[in-house]
Amino acid sequence: MATPTVTTPKAAAGRPRPTPPKQYRNYIAGKWLDSAAERRAPNVSPADTRVTLGDVPLSPAAEVDAAVLAAAAAFPAWRDTPPPVRARILYRWAALIEKHIDELAAILALEEGKTFSESKGEIAKAINIVEFMAGEGRRIGGDTLPSELPRTFVYTLKQPLGVVAIITPWNFPVAIPCWKIAPALVAGNTIAFKPATLTPWTAQRLIELLEEAGLPGGVVNLIYGAGSTVGDALVHHKAVRAVSFTGSNEVGTHVYTEGAKRLLKVQCELGGKNPLVVLEDADLELAAVATAQGAFGSSGQRCTATSRAIVIDQVADQFVDLVRGHAQKVVVGDPLADGVTMGPSVDGGQFKTVLDYLGVAQGEGAKLVTGGKRLSEGAHEHGFFVEPTVYDGVTPGMRIAKEEIFGPVLSVIRVKSFEEAVEVANDVEFGLSSSLYTNDVNRMYRFVDLIETGIVHVNSPTVGGEAQAPFGGMKGTGVGTREQGKVAIDFFTELKTVYADYTGTKRTSNIY
Ligand code: NAD
Repeated sequence: MATPTVTTPKAAAGRPRPTPPKQYRNYIAGKWLDSAAERRAPNVSPADTRVTLGDVPLSPAAEVDAAVLAAAAAFPAWRDTPPPVRARILYRWAALIEKHIDELAAILALEEGKTFSESKGEIAKAINIVEFMAGEGRRIGGDTLPSELPRTFVYTLKQPLGVVAIITPWNFPVAIPCWKIAPALVAGNTIAFKPATLTPWTAQRLIELLEEAGLPGGVVNLIYGAGSTVGDALVHHKAVRAVSFTGSNEVGTHVYTEGAKRLLKVQCELGGKNPLVVLEDADLELAAVATAQGAFGSSGQRCTATSRAIVIDQVADQFVDLVRGHAQKVVVGDPLADGVTMGPSVDGGQFKTVLDYLGVAQGEGAKLVTGGKRLSEGAHEHGFFVEPTVYDGVTPGMRIAKEEIFGPVLSVIRVKSFEEAVEVANDVEFGLSSSLYTNDVNRMYRFVDLIETGIVHVNSPTVGGEAQAPFGGMKGTGVGTREQGKVAIDFFTELKTVYADYTGTKRTSNIY
């Protein structure tokens, strides 16, 4: 068993670090307001827990009420603003995010732990999404339909819902708010937005830039706080017409169940356990690079992370050797330091979860190929760092093969045939993303037919996606319509059917 090479970053090297705000303030009715919160949570940098990036207010439910009422008050004027005019604000927002990309990327790296270059990649995706959604401002449309009656015009139109709640996780704190806020806004809704408590700074900068882009007060309202207070209050607020939620299965199930009690429109995008399948004819080096990218990128904290490599037995030894080589080249450390390619886990809770799973893997008898430990010496002393870890000999029933770990941990599962690979790939509760490495076109299309994931990659990693393409999962990963792409508008609109009779006479019969 080899140990990964861990390069210690020089403390002084690296990117400039922005200064955190003195206060995180809620943004309600166009004003930045101090919360009356009795409790606050420190925003701790995961790479160095001695660094605190301010305190986040855990706002009381009364402030949620104020935010929702402000959104409700702003709705009529925003609804009546023509979509191409709404879109102009989104174009300006995208331009401002681009202008501040280095600053935002440094903030993201400091509070979430992604490397600077990964952070820039996330923000570039956010810009693409906002621009794409701004374009939809000139395309939101319905259908015109034939009527069975004479001189009757039948058509559909998409109308905004009203106040929508947007609840987001910490792992893509720029891209996910953008891919919810942009379609909701262009469709004419007003918003109460609750970001994750672990990433308040990125949320604050995003909303400051939206304000600078010219968004009228009250159209988007930002409230910090605990999920059990602020999140719950949003889900239960009578003026909230829909909730778009991304996060864990545990919380998503709760939100969906509570929403169902009042027939609330709810969209949930939840966890993943994404497989990358390697057939015997695959380019093994390409497959190994993609596996390492998917498993260790963003410290494994992506819903689309590659957490299972399902490999045909006859090429498995060679594949595992190649993946080991890539894992050992990962440079773990301070995400803003030069040369670092993987940052820490986001916080103590997530760190403990990952370390616990390393124990589970050992207990289940998985064979450690590389990694398997926390890093706690030298420059890693004060952060939540884990070695990029690969286990071989994992069987489909093991917990590490079934449960989302959300850390840099890959399970290799060996199989005998294409059919067994598909069966194992589908044998989890999740269904977000998958990947197949092969040069066999027949098995490629058969895989696309059979795999139970919302996104399928062929000869490309499980991670990644484009703004114009729908994003989301099947089975336990998601309910509600897809996000991103033009279908994103569907969740944020009500479809209205119109029958307009221009005969000027009494309607007498239909075709029968
Ligand atoms: P989480 O479920 O703990 O929190 C998500 C959000 O829900 C946070 O803002 C949190 O404060 C809020 N929340 C907590 N309790 C709540 C409640 N009772 N009512 C309403 N809101 C509440 O998830 P997380 O740890 O922030 O994010 C990681 C998870 O998100 C992983 O499972 C990951 O796979 C998933 N994720 C999924 C996608 C996707 O598109 N499928 C994308 C990114 C992340």
